[in-house]
Amino acid sequence: MVARAFLGLAGPGSAKLLAGLLVFAFAAASGGAAQSGPTPEGYAAHVGGAKVIPPGGLRLDGRRMTCGQRPTVIDDQLDDYGAAYPGFLILNSKLLSRVPTSVKMWIYAHECGHQFRGPDEETADCFAVQRGRRQGWLTPEGVEEICAFIRPSKGSSMHFSGSHRCEAMRRCYADPKVR
Ligand SMILES: [Zn+2]
Repeated sequence: MVARAFLGLAGPGSAKLLAGLLVFAFAAASGGAAQSGPTPEGYAAHVGGAKVIPPGGLRLDGRRMTCGQRPTVIDDQLDDYGAAYPGFLILNSKLLSRVPTSVKMWIYAHECGHQFRGPDEETADCFAVQRGRRQGWLTPEGVEEICAFIRPSKGSSMHFSGSHRCEAMRRCYADPKVR
């Protein structure tokens, strides 16, 4: 069984489709042999125009971003702000350039959360805000910027899920117990 991709920030739909296409492409390239999922270089070659940034080499608004020894693939064709495969992170730098620094860093930390905590979105959200609090880049105002970012436009069916995630993150941010 091929390794499963983690989900992006927008939810299951598009990220899952992309993951499915990639898994299919990689299985076909290897003649159907068992695979452990794409490598960052393989992913970048497959999507085209993407760039692999080695661990410790990524900066967002001048701040060095690290997620253990995980590299980041900059893929501006990605249909989301960020995504994660086991072993590497993916960021869309074009979309990221439109959001405040706190939100950029939270997105990176959220995708990093998937590396260490698995595919659950709420767990990755919690990991990200607690990391931000510990490292000093996330203030209560920053949490509200994240809430504004995930708050979908009026009338969207995603509204409830966005508010729910925001409530959970506020609780996590205030919780002294690290999860
Ligand atoms: Zn996620």
